Amino acid sequence: MNIILIGPPACGKGTQAKLLKDKFNLFHFSTGEALREIASQPTKLGLEIKSHIDKGEFIDDKTIIELVKNKLNEIESQNATFDGVLFDGFPRTVFQANALKNLMDIDFVIEISIQKETMTKRILDRVSCKNCGKSYLLSQMKEKTCSVCGGEIIKRNDDNETVAYARYDDYLTKTFPIIEFYKNHKGYHKVDGEKSANEIFDDICKIIE
Ligand code: ADP
Repeated sequence: MNIILIGPPACGKGTQAKLLKDKFNLFHFSTGEALREIASQPTKLGLEIKSHIDKGEFIDDKTIIELVKNKLNEIESQNATFDGVLFDGFPRTVFQANALKNLMDIDFVIEISIQKETMTKRILDRVSCKNCGKSYLLSQMKEKTCSVCGGEIIKRNDDNETVAYARYDDYLTKTFPIIEFYKNHKGYHKVDGEKSANEIFDDICKIIE
């Protein structure tokens, strides 16, 4: 079962992806996380990707498609026993959606919708573990380290108001059109991202079970 999660920044894609991958034994592929990993290295590509992410700009389609193809080949060559791939943050442009069509069949396309105000509020309050990526709300954090792995809690460079607006604008102009692309897909569904994480998870499970 291959699934795509689509939605604006901070709609909860990452949180839902972590819950879904465990329940359905899926390979969770977050292009954002893969790119942040490359951006943390002092290479030419790393520095270039970091500068785009920090400004809230998309990475070019060619680089993204290559990243996805490499990752899919890697999973295949490892003879992994996953029951499918869960794409989180990909595809983000119509070009990427067309490229994916040639790579694999997708069973479900889940759009998670939220208002711009909700995005801003969540992004300003969002911190995460540098080590395992678990997200926390800054306003509700009691400990200074990750409750799962003890890792350092950090704020993403691109999680500030100015960059969040740039990311939201890119979402509307570049990613929103792929919802039209997928609307006729038999597995397309929209869920309300304003609900709690557990409620959204229940809604998604009802769709795919
Ligand atoms: P969010 O959905 O909260 O904005 P992500 O972790 O999915 O965060 O992505 C972080 C950044 O990585 C994006 O703002 C963008 O710069 C880059 N990025 C991630 N996925 C893609 C993609 N498929 N195409 C282009 N850029 C991407």
